[in-house]
Amino acid sequence: MKALKPAKEFNEEACTRCGLCFSECPVMDLPVKTAREEIRRLIAGEPTKQVLRKCASCFACDYICPEGCNPAELILQRWHEQYERKGLPLRARYFSPHEKLNFRTHVVSKMPAGERELIRSWADLSPAEEILYPGCNIITAPFVTRTKALEGMDIRGTLDYCCGETYYRMGLLEEVQKVARRLERFFKTLGVKRVNVLCTAGCNMFMNVLPSFGVDFDFEVRPYLPVILDKLEHGELAITNPLSGTATIHESCYGRHLGDEYMDVPRRILERIGLEVVEEKKHRNLSLCCGIAGGFPPDSGYHIKDLVTATLKSLQQARDTGADYTVGYCAGCLQMLTVGQKLLPIGPPVYHLLELLSRALGEEPAHPMKWRATAFLAGVLRYQAPLTLSWKKYRIPEIPVVPPSPEP
Ligand code: SF4
Ligand code: SF4
Repeated sequence: MKALKPAKEFNEEACTRCGLCFSECPVMDLPVKTAREEIRRLIAGEPTKQVLRKCASCFACDYICPEGCNPAELILQRWHEQYERKGLPLRARYFSPHEKLNFRTHVVSKMPAGERELIRSWADLSPAEEILYPGCNIITAPFVTRTKALEGMDIRGTLDYCCGETYYRMGLLEEVQKVARRLERFFKTLGVKRVNVLCTAGCNMFMNVLPSFGVDFDFEVRPYLPVILDKLEHGELAITNPLSGTATIHESCYGRHLGDEYMDVPRRILERIGLEVVEEKKHRNLSLCCGIAGGFPPDSGYHIKDLVTATLKSLQQARDTGADYTVGYCAGCLQMLTVGQKLLPIGPPVYHLLELLSRALGEEPAHPMKWRATAFLAGVLRYQAPLTLSWKKYRIPEIPVVPPSPEP
């Protein structure tokens, strides 16, 4: 069987071993000498002192590298090899998207009946030519879709049809391939011709990653945030209640993969609805992850300390802007940052872009994040924390093409 590789390959021949990738890494900021030694070790397949344990697989270094070598993919490759050799710490089980009990299914189990009913309606497998794929993070915060900005969209998807983003970010390439096959069948069952994707991680997976895992996605993938901006600019969505004040953007790690123009979209939407955008110190191609990626290195396996440290770093950066709002365009970032504020209430209140847009459209959106953050924390304390010090290893369970339970 052909060995699986990340979607892009590291170009070893072009690499000058300059170390810029890790010395300018927004997460590690290594001294140049250390950075050079780390890239040498990584290329040689030797254990590194910091990179393999601290990297958040944010892909910023792919855009830092002056030679276009894709160093992030080399890290994914090494993590893949490491997972093959020794698996993950057992504590990673609670964050594994296809485990029956995980951080998302726990939050879903605590949802009010209305939200559960809403996501149940998205589990429909009847034929559809055009759908909106929500992604796991929106499924965990489905209230953000209750806006006229998404009126008429046929939303389809369940937690079983996860895009595999976190597996990819951890170098779990066999799992990515299995996810790709499951999704291929899902989309063929629906017979879709166009898939609109709200979540930026999902956009990247469908456009840039999963097709390289041998599946045939014979439909158009359309990022949906630009469509919303277009509707605003052409008067199809009318601002009746403009907001005022300042907002800082919490960038999705995948924004950079979709390019500058894509990263402009949330900024332009915020300006349209009346908010002035104040940039964080590390933004756009050099932005920090919301915190979840602190747990991606296989040796971390979502260690609570790593998750908390990375989340607080991000909140501190938002606080330093002095903005009135922190705005994410990924519902996963919304969740992590809100959970972080539950632990340490710093920084401006965190909203999803769609929530603020909804207000500006004259709607009165609910913002039920407090109980969600509590449920998230309670789940981690109850189900993951007891495993934190376990020496046992964990491997992702089989991901069959047909999910065992079609219901979310
Ligand atoms: S991957 Fe790029 S930035 Fe990193 S050492 Fe090689 S050439 Fe320099
Ligand atoms: S992927 Fe991100 S965290 Fe990892 S080395 Fe590159 S820039 Fe740093």
